Amino acid sequence: MTTTPFKNEPFVDFSLPQNDKAMRDALAKVKNELGKSYPLIINGEAVFTNETEPSYNPANKEQIIGTVSQADQKLVDQAMEAATQAFKTWRYTSAEVRSSYLLKASAAVRRRKFEFSAWMVYETGKSFAEADADVAEAIDFMEYYAREMLRIDIPVPLVPYEGELNRQIYIPLGVGIVIPPWNFPLAIMAGMATSAIVAGNTILLKPSPNAPIIAAKFVELMQELGLPKGVLNYVPGRPETIGDYMTGHVDTRFISFTGSRDVGLHIVEHANKRIPGQKWIKRVIAEMGGKDGIVVDSDADLDAAATAIVQSSFGFQGQKCSAASRAIIHKDVYDTVVEKVVQLTKALKMGNPEDNAYVGPVIDDKSFAKVQRYIEIGKTEAKLATGGELGPDYGYFIQPTIFIDAKADSRLMQEEIFGPVLGMMKADSFEEAIDIFNSTDYGLTGSVFSQNEEHLAYASERMFCGNLYFNRKCTGALVGVHPFGGFSMSGTDSKTGGPDYLQLFMQAKLVSEKF
Ligand code: GLU
Repeated sequence: MTTTPFKNEPFVDFSLPQNDKAMRDALAKVKNELGKSYPLIINGEAVFTNETEPSYNPANKEQIIGTVSQADQKLVDQAMEAATQAFKTWRYTSAEVRSSYLLKASAAVRRRKFEFSAWMVYETGKSFAEADADVAEAIDFMEYYAREMLRIDIPVPLVPYEGELNRQIYIPLGVGIVIPPWNFPLAIMAGMATSAIVAGNTILLKPSPNAPIIAAKFVELMQELGLPKGVLNYVPGRPETIGDYMTGHVDTRFISFTGSRDVGLHIVEHANKRIPGQKWIKRVIAEMGGKDGIVVDSDADLDAAATAIVQSSFGFQGQKCSAASRAIIHKDVYDTVVEKVVQLTKALKMGNPEDNAYVGPVIDDKSFAKVQRYIEIGKTEAKLATGGELGPDYGYFIQPTIFIDAKADSRLMQEEIFGPVLGMMKADSFEEAIDIFNSTDYGLTGSVFSQNEEHLAYASERMFCGNLYFNRKCTGALVGVHPFGGFSMSGTDSKTGGPDYLQLFMQAKLVSEKF
């Protein structure tokens, strides 16, 4: 199969009236479809259950996006069985055929771009641009992994050996449990699901309870494309009812998880316990949190640094594991940078995502309470410079909040908040700033603003994080361009959207023939 070279999906320019209109039309269309019921999909069949859970709009707590059937353990067993049966043929389906489903899916998502964005505006409170970037990344993941699978399908070069024909190939693992997050409800969900599938595995997709409808829409689309039954099973359910059951299942071969550190660590531990009848060591691919930071050097472009800090901290309300929650500033420019960042932040408009406000709500009541707890902690540990207040009470709105003069070892600067809260602090030297950057349990993203090449080289060697950026923001990794994933408590050191990723869902097999 021939493909065109991979290129990233361009972002929609919403300053153009026709794009703004297309988005508002899509919002109106999707609004008419809110409140429907969504079944599980097991072996290609819709399964409605008595137990259901609503998914709400975080910007409008009363508005139900859809109601979702909930799996119990018996239904998980059925889905496992369906995936196990489907694996028997899917594993031998050619890489070309498997890849073609991803290419068709990406084209279908591209055609329905505004509609998918609109669902995310309603279900997760994204602004137009944030929702569009999510759609673009979903398209990118599928385009990229489709091509990656074709590349991997060619046997790797080995050292030739007289009288033998040797080949190393990659074969799939088996049945996987895919547990995506709600913060990139299309991109990361579709990326995690399709990477596992294109590699030849079959999966149970357990969507986030905060974004199950977008996942349902994507599964629907894959069904329309004729993906064989049982390859992608949609299994929403309460984490306490089915979470451990799925990951601990004897037939589970791997778990692909993106979410919080606590849940990730629990899965790692749980999956490592061998249960009777289990034939393999389960593989866990986990993407967890971050306590990401931006370092600003004394000679940096301060306007560019301030803009990047604000974008990285408050884009989608700071609900990205790549979001900057720490700014570590050289003492010579500290006051100026603080002033610029506070000023830019005060200018951010809070409001309804439907109206394309830059600052929307946080995802749910739990997050709303957690962020407020950290704001109170921040008040005891540092100085509040702006924010700290709540927004309109029909949604989970919290003002972008900045604390200054924070201490490196404070809870504010060590613990992941996953909301619109930034701590800023002063460093006496560039080297000290890097030490402070490295002083957390995490290691996901970081940025440095400096014009000093020696300092950049120093940072390049010493900053311990999976995605290190110079003179740009620390969010917004592009598929294929910036493979994404971190170290330490940020996960299992994997890189989504990178050339090593698909192998995580495969195992290498050597075939040697003497002649
Ligand atoms: N890949 C995204 C970025 O670079 C973040 C993903 C996440 O929050 O999990 O901003």
